[in-house]
Amino acid sequence: MVSMRRQTTATIPLPAIASGPAEAAHSGIREVVNLALITPGCIRLEVGEPNFPTPKHIVDAAVEFANKGQVKYTATAGLLSLRERLVAKLERVNGIKTGVGNINCSVGGVGGIAGAVAALIEPGDEVLVPDPAWPNYRLMLAWAHGVLVPYACPPANEFLPDPREIERLITSRTKMIIVNSPCNPTGAVFPLELLEELVDVAVRHNLYFLSDECYDEVILEGRHTSPASFCTDGRVISAFTFSKTYAMTGWRVGYVVANDQISDSITKVLESNSSCLPAICQKAAEAALDGPREPLHEMVNAYRDRRDLCVGLLEEAGMLISRPKGAFYIMADVGRSGMDSRSFAFDLVKTKKVAVAPGTAFGDSARNAVRISLASSPEDLSRGIAGMIERIEELSE
Ligand code: PMP
Repeated sequence: MVSMRRQTTATIPLPAIASGPAEAAHSGIREVVNLALITPGCIRLEVGEPNFPTPKHIVDAAVEFANKGQVKYTATAGLLSLRERLVAKLERVNGIKTGVGNINCSVGGVGGIAGAVAALIEPGDEVLVPDPAWPNYRLMLAWAHGVLVPYACPPANEFLPDPREIERLITSRTKMIIVNSPCNPTGAVFPLELLEELVDVAVRHNLYFLSDECYDEVILEGRHTSPASFCTDGRVISAFTFSKTYAMTGWRVGYVVANDQISDSITKVLESNSSCLPAICQKAAEAALDGPREPLHEMVNAYRDRRDLCVGLLEEAGMLISRPKGAFYIMADVGRSGMDSRSFAFDLVKTKKVAVAPGTAFGDSARNAVRISLASSPEDLSRGIAGMIERIEELSE
């Protein structure tokens, strides 16, 4: 076993390290991943990563470019040829009219979101963050020393927030609201009217609106709306990624769209932490945008079939909370186990060799739920959910 961290011993106490990251908790999904990794034969439904390979034409384009030997630094914001293609994609898919100067390509969607946080948030600024939410927002606010103010997206309301409740949380320190639709972990897709109401709140209280749209093209039913398509006063910052749409998680290509001033700040942040994205990955992203749409449609169709399978199984067991409309996750109610979801997730790996992500990793509103990733095979989903139902029955006897 290779030790992960090397011990260091100083003769005098070293200066204190920065409190933000030091004091923030690690992701609660990671704890379950670690246990699953040392549990032979464990069915892995906890990780949110497409189980499809990157389409071949994308890989081929990257290899071809690498073989030409011209792999150098690029502009920090990304190759102009990639950003030109993104301008067209944003107009076609998202209804966002923008220019190459308003796009920063980043290390995954996470890099663009972190860039926006660094560009906008000062110590003490309050940020409205969905609960439940992807854990990384919390970690970003920890180093930016922003104050996380959770707003509920409760299971009882199909994981959608109430704009009036959000409004009650706003103070003179509130700087930004983060909205994530389609949503990880809930699969909720915010209807247009709700997004309009949320943007209206942001306008009336003069807040920035960070729209995390990393699952914009993973739509299982209905429509995705990009807030920047109807709010054009510069307060909306929109983040996207190639990771989900094209099964390109490991290529690490995302992009963030913002007004001139914010984009310029984000470029400086990215310059300081990555200089630019690997040119090979940017070329792969260009090939993804130029290539056929079939691989995306095939993946989304598979996620939809798996969603339907899980909805049926969970509904029959009385564990369905709501029918996901986007992304590739479904939440299951495990309240009947009598445990909080963190304890339940550990217990489930140990007793049934099934790993799911505990709702507690995403926030308090989901403490009685677990997240199941639909990016798993139908066989694993059926066997994993059967194990989970069996365990709940044993515990509630
Ligand atoms: N936002 C959300 C809601 C996500 O779930 C993820 C990835 N899990 C990201 C952003 C970041 O995606 P990427 O892998 O491209 O950094």
